[in-house]
Amino acid sequence: MGAGPGDPELMTLKAKRLISEADVILFDKLLDPKVLVGVKAELIDVGKTAGRHKLTQDGINQLLIEKAETGNVVLRLKGGDPYLFGRGGEEALALLDKGIAVEVVPGVTSAIAAPELDGIPVTHRGIASSLTIVTGHEEPGKDSPLDWNAIASLGGTLVVLMGVSRLEQNIAALVGGGKSAKTAAAIVEKGGWPEQRMIAGTLEDIAEKARAAKIESPAILVVGDVVLLSKHLAQKKIAILRPAAQQEEAARLAERYGFRPIQAPAIALQEKPLPEDLSERLKAAECVAFTSANGVKLALQNQVILTSLGKKTIVAIGPKTEQSLAKRGLKAQVPEEYSSEGLEKILKGKCKRILFLRSAQGSRYLSDGLRAAGLFVDDVPIYEVTISGDPRLDDLIKRAASVDIFAFTSSSTARNLMERAQALGLETELREALGNSTVAAIGKPTANELAQLKIRVDVMPEKFTFEAMLKALKERTRLE
Ligand code: SAH
Repeated sequence: MGAGPGDPELMTLKAKRLISEADVILFDKLLDPKVLVGVKAELIDVGKTAGRHKLTQDGINQLLIEKAETGNVVLRLKGGDPYLFGRGGEEALALLDKGIAVEVVPGVTSAIAAPELDGIPVTHRGIASSLTIVTGHEEPGKDSPLDWNAIASLGGTLVVLMGVSRLEQNIAALVGGGKSAKTAAAIVEKGGWPEQRMIAGTLEDIAEKARAAKIESPAILVVGDVVLLSKHLAQKKIAILRPAAQQEEAARLAERYGFRPIQAPAIALQEKPLPEDLSERLKAAECVAFTSANGVKLALQNQVILTSLGKKTIVAIGPKTEQSLAKRGLKAQVPEEYSSEGLEKILKGKCKRILFLRSAQGSRYLSDGLRAAGLFVDDVPIYEVTISGDPRLDDLIKRAASVDIFAFTSSSTARNLMERAQALGLETELREALGNSTVAAIGKPTANELAQLKIRVDVMPEKFTFEAMLKALKERTRLE
């Protein structure tokens, strides 16, 4: 059965159902482990890496037969489609030979999906009207070897699977067979996986570029002019630097704006014990301000805060914060601009004393501005922002070079990303990646923090919401 190219959402509905029904699942390397999380079946990894077989094909066939003959519903799960260079046919024949019933479930093949996910359609009207898929890992001296001369003379698009280790030889065979060295070519690595990368060039330089970029299996080679379309069709990869709790929502939103989200939880939030003199401080304040939905959520768990809010002017720094207050029946004022001037404007005449309920590391930018304007500002930390221990952040740092856009949603996300990169010894690489990509800051405090970290900011939305940032980024990429 095929599991698609990697992204669990690219599995068929049937595959998903059968995974939950099987007694035994034999799977291999091309699979995202997420697919099998929480599955009740016995899981057997029969993964093979080129040259280093864990189990021989005969061994796999035997195991399938054994498991099936003892009355189990056995699922053989493969990356992509099972019958495209997947040996699915061989396995099915071995089972049928023993009188065991077999059902095949097609999967989305990497041969088409991997290029597609990086903006390369394998056929395109006026550019390519045929697709040839070959293996690039044929043992020399085989009975019916591939005829590279014939392949070189075909028009259309050529996709080479299993071709990483013999890239130079295969390209030489194509050029030797008459294919122009100037033909466009691309390598797509780990299509459909979060760490997907694409390298584009021509037959002349693609192998060298792939080596320089340390491209590894699984990757496919695409040859033909369709590669040139990726300039227009490839979706930009956006790293979402937000707390874990908001990742899913942000990712779905990014997809709606045509971006490919990379979830990068850069911070974790930890509740802080409230100060003992909180009620007096609340009493003294005329206005209470919130700067994030997280702050609202945590603060409103506290009865003292909740009851005192009834008599205050409540200020929310943005629409999301306002919404989370509204959900609890609290009406808030929202400044037009996320700045101390914006805040000052709506506070004018309403209060001289303002109390912030926010993150312990909240930017001083707002409070300092208000103090300078003569207001009395009290800051009560509700939660603390810590470096997230989420492995997805480390993954992002390691493959920062493949990211098109870094979207920072608070000053702490910027600070923690840099700190984590330093801890991993990858600061130089990260800075280089940031320099080569588009950097977006959700608002002024975030932009200020980035400037302090010596990171250039390219985009800042007029409104300080994640969606406004996506809109601004979309507009910018359209103009590029
Ligand atoms: N049955 C699989 C292909 C198996 S052969 C399918 O239909 O996709 C294994 C080869 O497939 C790899 O060497 C690589 O060339 C390609 N491949 C598989 N998954 C891939 C992916 N996610 N991205 C790029 N290439 C992939």
